[in-house]
Amino acid sequence: MIGFGQQFDEPVCSRAACRERATWSIVWRNPRIHTADRRKVWLACDEHVAYLRDFLASRDFPLEVVEGVGTAGDRA
Ligand SMILES: [Zn+2]
Repeated sequence: MIGFGQQFDEPVCSRAACRERATWSIVWRNPRIHTADRRKVWLACDEHVAYLRDFLASRDFPLEVVEGVGTAGDRA
């Protein structure tokens, strides 16, 4: 990890308290508060991608798990 406040240089897992490098993107939205064209992106490390996906899936949020981080959502 390269210092504080450098999260944009090295993508970090979105799981609380996890500082692992993210290797997955979970693209999702909450249909109750987000319009159909809105997308939220969580980043996840290998260990937490299943946890975060299940967290969203249990709320019936539409989601897509994309390998890699950064512009993957935009290029889908
Ligand atoms: Zn993690």
